[in-house]
Amino acid sequence: TFTALMIEDADGKPRAGFKTISLADLPDHDVLVEVAYSSLNYKDGLAVTGKSRIARKLPMVAGADLAGTVVESRSPDWRAGDKVVVNGWGMSETEWGGYSRFQRVKPQWLTRLPDAFSLEQAMAIGTAGYTSALCVNALEDWGMIKPDAGEVLVTGAAGGVGSVAVALLANRGYNVVASTGRPETHDYLSSLGAKGFIDRNTLTEKGGPLQKERWAGAVDTVGSTTLVNVLGQTVYGGAVAACGLAGGFDLPGTVMPHILRAVTLIGVDSVMAPHAKRDRAWATLAESLDPDALSRITQVEPLERVPELAAEILAGRIQGRVVVRIA
Ligand code: NAP
Repeated sequence: TFTALMIEDADGKPRAGFKTISLADLPDHDVLVEVAYSSLNYKDGLAVTGKSRIARKLPMVAGADLAGTVVESRSPDWRAGDKVVVNGWGMSETEWGGYSRFQRVKPQWLTRLPDAFSLEQAMAIGTAGYTSALCVNALEDWGMIKPDAGEVLVTGAAGGVGSVAVALLANRGYNVVASTGRPETHDYLSSLGAKGFIDRNTLTEKGGPLQKERWAGAVDTVGSTTLVNVLGQTVYGGAVAACGLAGGFDLPGTVMPHILRAVTLIGVDSVMAPHAKRDRAWATLAESLDPDALSRITQVEPLERVPELAAEILAGRIQGRVVVRIA
């Protein structure tokens, strides 16, 4: 037997708790993985606190990420001993996830651990960091030209997606401006390569549909009024990659930046992203994420602390990324 952090039904409400389970309790998928590490993403905070109904089937083993070693495989694509990573694919929503010593997963969800990273580093990146890379690739594919594109904004900069986005963009030569509500993180963000800062409060107040043009591109993790203001401040022909809703899921804006300034809003999803996009995102991370920067971004915590840290991430008090040690 082993321990898993499980969400169960408690009088119609999701409630997380530690359970002792065995291999026989796991889903009947083809690849059994011994999980070394998982991670804590904003979505895990929502799932474990029960603040949003992330788990759509109960009971549910939480954890949107896992990294570990294949123990058994009924698929010819994977063999015992393979080091693997799973990000998303419905884990913690409709499929049991990574907050468990062992998990069975579908072979098509697995990504081979990139040579550039250890299992721990892969989870320091996790869904959040791989989403940052999806955003950077989306902006570059769309045509953001470095190094003279102008300033690139990252909102929610001191969070998980934000920190990795700052580090990646700075490493790729962009002039990165970080939007944060925590001035105490400025030294940390400078160490990742941020060249300028704005107070996030300047973006949370409703502004005009077309504001002073400043951002050549942006990665937005906040959504709502923040995203609308970022679009209104994006230069003619610029683009914003939107992946988050830490400030709200509404979009209370106008079409004006899009139709008068040809501003592009690029939506970014990590959960069901196809393998080609995932592989490119991991290649971008291997190429442009400095290991020293990644270690400054990361703290490692035991599984027992996840319920407490889940509340902390929703309160906006986690800096960078949390790796969850399982084994
Ligand atoms: P996180 O570590 O909690 O980062 C979020 C950051 O947003 C916080 O650190 C904070 O940054 C800022 N923030 C929090 N509440 C805010 C508010 N009310 N108004 C303005 N800013 C606020 O979370 P994460 O794991 O990086 O995820 C960030 C967002 O991306 C979440 O919404 C998550 O669901 C989303 N996400 C989406 C995908 C996808 O597939 N689309 C994948 C991963 C994550 P400062 O302290 O610096 O202000």
